[in-house]
Amino acid sequence: MAEFKEIKAVFHVEENEPIGHKTYRMRLAGDTSAFSATGQFVNVAVWGKFLRRPISVCDYDASGLTLLYDVVGAGTEAMTHWSKGWPVNSLIALGNGFDTNRSGDNPLLLGGGIGIAPLYGLAKTLVAQGKHPTAILGFNSGKDVVMLDEFRAVCPTYLATVDGTYPDVPGGDINVTQGYVTDVIDRYDLGDAAYFYACGPLPMLRALCLNLNIEGEVSMESRMGCGFGICMCCSLETKDGAKRICKEGPVFRKENLIWK
Ligand code: FAD
Repeated sequence: MAEFKEIKAVFHVEENEPIGHKTYRMRLAGDTSAFSATGQFVNVAVWGKFLRRPISVCDYDASGLTLLYDVVGAGTEAMTHWSKGWPVNSLIALGNGFDTNRSGDNPLLLGGGIGIAPLYGLAKTLVAQGKHPTAILGFNSGKDVVMLDEFRAVCPTYLATVDGTYPDVPGGDINVTQGYVTDVIDRYDLGDAAYFYACGPLPMLRALCLNLNIEGEVSMESRMGCGFGICMCCSLETKDGAKRICKEGPVFRKENLIWK
């Protein structure tokens, strides 16, 4: 069973603050040397819950990592009560992250809702590599928008909201496209991007993979049990056969995915 090398770690909460009406940003201190790429995730234990909760790493450095999470149920609600110093038992560095070798010079980063989380760390990595990413962030409504100022500090950033409303957050002085990230792509000349990275709701990923005429990779999501490849409950049928989203994913190349 040498293939299964999940890494268990205890991190400590440094900061855990709301940054939107349903979104929190949590900074955890601890050893991140096991991480190899943005797009990997952690699977955090929540007291009283049998299953851990998978959360993408938004950003990491040598001393810790940042998570963004939406409060959607009992587990993420419990996480909002973790205060400074709280020990967080987690499986870390899970899955395969984004491959920055394939980006070309001007990649597009396409995020929907809380799917923007791993794209922030990715944007920083690409810029550090001398590349010129452009981010397109999509949310249902202006009130859902988070991290706009942070993205704008790293790379050119476009914003779409489904209802066309504007965000009331730092960095909110920006043109808003009413609709989806795909509408931003239709509206603007985004240069000669030859590669895209995407994370967000399934319909968005589907639309991008079927309609965007450049290569790319997407981070897939699924309910999962173990998070490190044993229970098989997150299996996905791909052109290369069944793959586990937690183990061979969550990031998959566009050309390997099957859309029915
Ligand atoms: P409940 O609905 O009460 O959860 C009940 C059970 O369902 C739990 O076992 C929970 O883990 C599972 N579950 C519920 N929704 C999801 C879902 N969408 N995906 C997977 N399992 C789910 N959310 C964020 O807010 N930020 C992130 O960065 C993020 N990254 C993710 C990365 C991966 C690889 C995956 C698979 C999911 C990610 N999610 C992320 C979704 C997050 O895991 C769920 O929102 C969370 O587990 C819900 O837990 P809950 O107890 O609040 O909700």
